[in-house]
Amino acid sequence: MIEIRNLNKTYQMGSVKVEALRKTSLKIAAGEFVAIMGASGSGKSTLMHVLGLLDRPDSGEFLLEGEDMTKLSDKELALVRNQLVGFVFQQFHLLPRMTALENAQLPLIYAGRKHLKDRAIKEITEVGLKDRMLHKPNEMSGGQQQRVAIARSLVNDPPIILADEPTGNLDTKSKEEIVAILKKLNQKGKTIIIVTHEPEIAAHCRRIIYMRDGQIISDQANAQALGPGQGSFQETPVKDILSNAKKSFSARMELFDYFRQALFAMMSHKMRSFLSILGVLIGVAAVVAMLAIGQGAKESIEKQLSSLGSNLLIVRSGAPMSGGVALEAGAATRLRTKDVSAIKDLKEYVYSASPSVSSRAQAVFGNKNWNTRVEGVDVEYERIRASTPTSGRFFTAQEVKQRDKVALLGTTVLKELFGDTDPLGQTIKINAINFKVIGVLPAKGSMGPSDQNDIIIIPITTAMYRVLGKQYLDSIYVEAKDADLIDETQRAIVRLMIKEHRLRTDEQKDSFQIRNMADIKNTLTATTKTMSLLLGAIAAISLLVGGIGIMNIMLVSVTERTREIGLRKAIGANNTDIMIQFLIEAVLMSLLGGISGVALGVGASILITSIAGWAAKVSVFSIALSVVFSLFIGVVFGLWPARQASKLDPITALRYE
Ligand code: ADP
Ligand code: MG
Repeated sequence: MIEIRNLNKTYQMGSVKVEALRKTSLKIAAGEFVAIMGASGSGKSTLMHVLGLLDRPDSGEFLLEGEDMTKLSDKELALVRNQLVGFVFQQFHLLPRMTALENAQLPLIYAGRKHLKDRAIKEITEVGLKDRMLHKPNEMSGGQQQRVAIARSLVNDPPIILADEPTGNLDTKSKEEIVAILKKLNQKGKTIIIVTHEPEIAAHCRRIIYMRDGQIISDQANAQALGPGQGSFQETPVKDILSNAKKSFSARMELFDYFRQALFAMMSHKMRSFLSILGVLIGVAAVVAMLAIGQGAKESIEKQLSSLGSNLLIVRSGAPMSGGVALEAGAATRLRTKDVSAIKDLKEYVYSASPSVSSRAQAVFGNKNWNTRVEGVDVEYERIRASTPTSGRFFTAQEVKQRDKVALLGTTVLKELFGDTDPLGQTIKINAINFKVIGVLPAKGSMGPSDQNDIIIIPITTAMYRVLGKQYLDSIYVEAKDADLIDETQRAIVRLMIKEHRLRTDEQKDSFQIRNMADIKNTLTATTKTMSLLLGAIAAISLLVGGIGIMNIMLVSVTERTREIGLRKAIGANNTDIMIQFLIEAVLMSLLGGISGVALGVGASILITSIAGWAAKVSVFSIALSVVFSLFIGVVFGLWPARQASKLDPITALRYE
C-alpha cells in the first residue's frame, strides 16, 4: 500500500546541512502495525511527516496505492491528508479553547461533511471519554488529551494512522491505555505506524524498524506480537479521492463553518477583539454623527432660505466685508426712506420693498431681562420675509405712520420673557420704553450661531425716531417680481442708486451692496461642500487608522496561532481554508465595529439633538456607506494577514514556539 523509494530530505541549518533522510526505502502493506525506533535525530519524525503528507521529500518516490504523492498540489495533499491519514502527535496539539468534542470534530469541517457531530461523539466514546467530552484540554490529564487526539484522527475514518511518539509525554498507565487503543484499531483493519523510543511499546507491534542517520538499518517481524492481520483491512481509496478533488473543491467547507470558526476565535479573545474593532467603531461613529450634524445644518439652512424666498434682495449701506474688515467705511452710501419709494417705483422689476434698521436692545418684562436684536421694518416686511404671526397680528400702516409702540416677538424672546404664558396684550419695555406685544413671529431655522428667532420687530418709524435714534436705514428688503429676473432687478437697483446718490461709477461698488438669495445660496453651498470634504477626509483617516488596527491585531493573531494553523493544515485544511478563515475573521471584526459604530453614531446624534439642540439628521445613506466601508476595510486589511497565515508550512507551523 505505502511504498517509498530512495527518499532524501535535507535541512539547511545555517551553513550546516542535515540529512534527515538518506535514500530511505520502505514498503508497508495494508493492515500492518509498524513501530519505528531509533536514536533521537535519526530522522523518524521526518519520515512520518513525509508519510503523513505534511512535508515533501527533496527527491525520491512516494507511492500510495500506486499513486505518486510527490507530484500532488497543496490542495490535493490537504484532501488526501484529511481523508486518508490520521496523525497523532507527541504534544497532542489540541486547540486549547475548544472542548474535547469540538477538537475531535475539526477534521469533519475540512472534509465538508456537514455537522456529523454523531461521528465525533462516537469516536470520543470509543476512546472512553464520553463523560468528559465537554471539557477543555486544560481540564484533562495528558492521557485523556491524547485520547481526544486519537478520536480526532479517527473521525474521518482514515485507513492509515500515524503516531509520532504518542506516549512520549505520558505516564505508564496512560501509555498502556493508548497502546491498547491503537492495537484495537489495528485489529479493526487500520494500518498503524508508530514512532517510539520504548521497547515495551514496540513489543506490541508486529514489525519493528530501526533508523540511524536517516537510514533504515534493520526491519524485522516481531513474533511475540499478535498474529498476522485479520485480512479484512480497510481500503485506501486514493484514486477516488483524487478524482473527486479535481471535480469539486468548492463544496468542501461550508460558509457557515467558516463563520463559526471565525466567531469562535473572536469570542475567545473578547478584550483583544474589542480593542481592535475600537478604531473602526469610533471612526464610523464619528462619520455617522458628523454627517448627521452636517445634514441637519444643511436642512435647517435650506428651510431658512426657503422662508426668505428666492426672489429676495437685500440692499445694504456700506462697503462689502472683506475678510471681516469693512473696506473704506467712510464711503458708505446712506440709505434713506425715499430710496425705498424709488425702488418701489421700479414697477417693472420690484413687487414690494421694506426699509429696515436694527440694533441690539434690552427687553424687560416683569423681572425678566433679555438682550436681543430689535428691528424696525415697514408693513411689507410681513410678506417679503414670510413673517405672518403665528398668533396675534402684524402692525398696520396706520400704526407705522403714528409711530406706535407695538412689538412682535421672535420665539426665543417669547420663551425668555414669557415662558409659557400668553404675551398678547402685555406690555414690555424696550430700552426703557413701553411697548405692547401684538403678535408672535413664526419660528425660523437657525443659521450657524446666529439665532433668527432672537428678535423683536417694531414699526420702522418707532425704531428710527423713538428707540434707536437712527436717521438712516441699515438695509432695504426688496422682493423681485420674478425670481428668474433677479439679476436684471439687481442691475436696475444699482443704476437707480447710482443716479439717486450721484455716485461715481468707481465708488458705487464700495458704498453699498446688494445681496440676493442666489449669492447666499452659492456661498452656503460652497461652505457645505468644504465641510463635507473635510468630514470625508476625517472619516477616511479615522477608518484607515481603524483598519490598520485590525490588521495589526490580525498579524499578531496569526503569529500567536501559528501552531493552530499548523494543526488545522495537518488535519486537512488547505491554504484557501486558512485564508478564508482569517479573512472572515477580519471582515467580521470590522463589520462588527462598523455596526456598533453606526449604533453609537446614531445614539450620539440623538443625544446632540436633544442636549445641544442642533438638528442632527442621520441619513440611511451614511449608515449604508459606513457599513459597506467597514466591510471593505476588513477585506483590505485582513487580506495580508490572511495570506501570511495561509502560506505557512504545516510542519514549520506546528514546531513554532
Ligand atoms: P527524530 O524524530 O528521529 O528525533 P527528526 O526526523 O525530527 O528526528 O530529525 C532528523 C534530523 O533533521 C535532526 O538532526 C534534526 O535536527 C533535523 N531537523 C529536523 N527538522 C528540521 C528543521 N525543520 N530544520 C532543520 N533541521 C531539522
Ligand atoms: Mg521526533
